[in-house]
Amino acid sequence: MPDYGHPLRFGSFVSPAHATPRRPVDLAVLSEDLGLDLVTFQDHPYQSSFHDTWTLLTWVAARTSRIHVAGNVLNLPLRPPAVLARALASLDLLSDGRAELGIGTGGYFDAIATMTGAPALTPGDAVTALDEALDVIRGIWDVADPTPLHTGGEHHRVAGAARGPAPAHDIPIWVGARQRRMQQLIGRKADGWLPSLPWLKPGDLAAGNRVIDEAARAAGRDPRAITRLLNVTPQYSAAALAERAIEDGVAVFILASDDPAELRRFAEVTAPEIRDRVGEARSRGGSVAAPRAARSFRGDPVPAALAERAILPSDRGYARYTSGFFRGARPGIVLRPQTTAEVQEAVRFAARHRDVPLGLFSGGHGLSGRSLNDGGLVLALDALNEISVSDHRVRVGPGAHWAEVAQALAPHGLAITAGDAGGVGVGGLATTAGIGWFAREHGLTIDLLRAVDVVTATGDLVHASATEHPDLFWAMRGAGANFGVAVSFEFDAHPVPGQVGFAILVFAPDDVAAFLEGWGAAIEAAHPSVTGTLMTGPGRRGVPGPVHAIVVVDSDDPDVVLERLQPLADLAPLADHAVRMTSYAGLLTDQPGAESQHGQGEPHSHSGLVRHLTPEIAAGLADLLASGSPFLLSVRSAGGAVGATPADATAYAWRDANFLLVTLGGGSPDFERRWAELVPLFEGMYLSFETDTGPDVVARAFPPEHLKRLRALKREWDPDMLFRDNFPIDPDAD
Ligand SMILES: Cc1cc2nc3c(=O)[nH]c(=O)nc-3n(C[C@H](O)[C@H](O)[C@H](O)COP(=O)(O)OP(=O)(O)OC[C@H]3O[C@@H](n4cnc5c(N)ncnc54)[C@H](O)[C@@H]3O)c2cc1C
Repeated sequence: MPDYGHPLRFGSFVSPAHATPRRPVDLAVLSEDLGLDLVTFQDHPYQSSFHDTWTLLTWVAARTSRIHVAGNVLNLPLRPPAVLARALASLDLLSDGRAELGIGTGGYFDAIATMTGAPALTPGDAVTALDEALDVIRGIWDVADPTPLHTGGEHHRVAGAARGPAPAHDIPIWVGARQRRMQQLIGRKADGWLPSLPWLKPGDLAAGNRVIDEAARAAGRDPRAITRLLNVTPQYSAAALAERAIEDGVAVFILASDDPAELRRFAEVTAPEIRDRVGEARSRGGSVAAPRAARSFRGDPVPAALAERAILPSDRGYARYTSGFFRGARPGIVLRPQTTAEVQEAVRFAARHRDVPLGLFSGGHGLSGRSLNDGGLVLALDALNEISVSDHRVRVGPGAHWAEVAQALAPHGLAITAGDAGGVGVGGLATTAGIGWFAREHGLTIDLLRAVDVVTATGDLVHASATEHPDLFWAMRGAGANFGVAVSFEFDAHPVPGQVGFAILVFAPDDVAAFLEGWGAAIEAAHPSVTGTLMTGPGRRGVPGPVHAIVVVDSDDPDVVLERLQPLADLAPLADHAVRMTSYAGLLTDQPGAESQHGQGEPHSHSGLVRHLTPEIAAGLADLLASGSPFLLSVRSAGGAVGATPADATAYAWRDANFLLVTLGGGSPDFERRWAELVPLFEGMYLSFETDTGPDVVARAFPPEHLKRLRALKREWDPDMLFRDNFPIDPDAD
């Protein structure tokens, strides 16, 4: 007996005919008076004899006080999901949690096409459309996520939609469907199956349940999470319907009738008899209700401590983990530990599933996009975001963002140099290097790191510092993602004035190569308090594009700021410029576009570290730009204090490099070839701006001696390569 353990409920299914406009409303009121739980209406807006179902639902909700209302089922092609989600949430709020969602793809594709003018959907399209719509609806309701909603898709996509309102209750999504692929979708990500008994042949319910249950299990869900509903007609006896509950797990029976006498009989005679029969069968069989937290991944139950907050593709918070900064993803499960102990459990769980990708997700800004994945496990560390300051020592969780760190440190007159964008997470940046504003004055972010707590591949918690596990501490500063999950960092912050200089200089150089060379020399000669980034694109029709320079000067004296900017401003004619004083936290937050994480494509980003912008390198970069193949080239400052730490002191080795080059392109063969030709001119490469992840990339990111040591350490700490998704270091390679 597939009893899914849901309480029995009974409803009515009323025609929305408007021949007597108030009649459907009266039948709804009668349904409530009779004690039914639910009143539903079919949704065929192309039939002129019917009310618009949505308008009717709202009227009924206002005229009743207890009964729940739903479309049976709402017609997705005619009700755009983002609009529908808001409408439902509003109705749910207005009716104190009585709005339910039954949805389907219409079925009458030709009629829908006539009404919309759009070509008729094929059944295959309909499944995809519904799949996408569920993401949109749940995404709109997910107000816990502060970012605008972005979902990709063929039929329903939203780009930056505001979320909300959230409904008053967790509205389950019931799908009306008969096709196998639709049933598989229900198993994967819906909350209920709502077929109509008169349309079914004997055995169809059992067969549909099997498909749904199998799909649910494959998606890591407990099949009991999916409610089985059934539209019935007065011709079926209570005994026959009770059998459907007992044998097929139906828990909600909805009577299609506009006859008050039939509705009364159903509520007063049929429903109680079904209850009695099912009650007896249950007391014999002893069924148990499914706890929401019973979750599994590929048949393996998720540990209890993690199950409640685990996110499967069917869950409301899933959309948050389907886009990184550049790339889209569809993880199989997202584990969201709240504590270090839970991270340890999550790592042990992941170790049982080595054959699928394992993403470590802190701030989600990783350019390679490997913190998310398709079908694998994601360990999301958003909740580990504590920031505590004691004197100049700062303890930070990997899930914190650098803007939050800057804001927390500002009242103490402190900062930690850490990149240029506040939305970047601590976990990803502080395990690779951190080349940021003030790098020339204070070094890399990892140079300020004094200790890191790591959950290693065995699930053990290890405190790594200069005196405890110094080898691991060495590896975590440059190749951290290969060695474990960093769960807490301890930094020594540096002092920062309340205001620093910030300039945008827009150059219009005739000769880009000469300008780059000049920029290189000027930055190298500049006071260590000066850091600058150039950004430029390919230009048009042979004319170089403008070159934007963003320059930060760590001084609160405007005269000093101007004096230190002047040699840079003199390099070429300025098309525009702006100079102002701002806080360090302001530097990290005033970056339009730097916060967004709705990547769906596959842009290619490459990076190179160079000691000087030599004539050869400058000319190569100018040629690359002139070819039109990259979207963007940026030249960031390293150098200065970065070189004060010996090259062998950390896994990040390129201490002599004064500049980080980053280019972004669509991956055209021309772009790739031109970049590859430049690579031999570079000293090294910085993982954080690279989207390729193969062994040749790793070999460019570390000098041979470093790589040798990293491989030996990998053999010690992660010989079976649990942590291998982003720039894997092969312990056994020569
Ligand atoms: C707009 C923008 C601006 C940037 N500016 C700079 C800059 O100025 N300077 C600079 O140095 N970098 C910069 N970066 C690159 C950035 O440092 C990396 O992308 C970094 O990996 C992002 O960290 P995250 O936690 O946000 O990313 P996530 O996507 O969460 O993680 C990226 C990768 O880091 C690793 N990782 C994440 N968390 C952990 C953890 N807790 N333990 C171990 N490994 C972990 C994993 O390999 C993961 O795949 C910038 C990126 C963007 C998108």
